Amino acid sequence: MKICIKQKILHFLFPTRCPVCGEFIYPEELFCDECSKKISHFTGEFSVPAAESYTAAFVYDKNISPAVILLKKGICGNADRALALPLAEKLKKISTADSVDLILPVPMHKKAQCERGYNQAELIAKIIGRELRIPVVSDCVVKVRRTAAQKELDRIHRRTNLKGAFSVLRPELIRGKSVLLIDDICTTGSTLTELAEVLRKNGAKKVFCATACKTPLKPKTDNTNT
Ligand SMILES: [Zn+2]
Repeated sequence: MKICIKQKILHFLFPTRCPVCGEFIYPEELFCDECSKKISHFTGEFSVPAAESYTAAFVYDKNISPAVILLKKGICGNADRALALPLAEKLKKISTADSVDLILPVPMHKKAQCERGYNQAELIAKIIGRELRIPVVSDCVVKVRRTAAQKELDRIHRRTNLKGAFSVLRPELIRGKSVLLIDDICTTGSTLTELAEVLRKNGAKKVFCATACKTPLKPKTDNTNT
């Protein structure tokens, strides 16, 4: 994997670590060898209504969850690259990149983003945008109201919880365009479904969805909030 000068400098100042176990790794690596062997790549099929396709890089389980938690804690280290680059490679292989005009990260509510300091979906989207050479637009669609934590709701209430939660501020950017929605995790797909419908209603020609992780298709536990 090619690395940029910025990555080399960062590695010199802050040696790269595996985002799962914290072991030092080479700057061109994403995980240490031990963790790489344990991580499961997502190979299942999952569909998001109103979207053309759905893709994920990893199965969300205890082996990858430390990287996702690290990304959400604000000390993302190598977690953003480790989660985003394999997804970018997968999107290249299935040719989604050839069909997409722009990338949109799943937005957070402004207040929630202020509390965290950033949107982790945007971190992933920016890396994918660079890899695929597709522009990333972060201010086209916004989350206009805070919603109850999805993990506390059943499948039906997850959808109603999100109704009217998103608003397209700049429909001219997506009108007639093919859009790729990016998030860190997908559980039931409720958030992506709601957003895909909102984007289509506002003129998007096609909506593709991709997340770094997908919870197991028959989850035993559910400790995510999207
Ligand atoms: Zn490791």
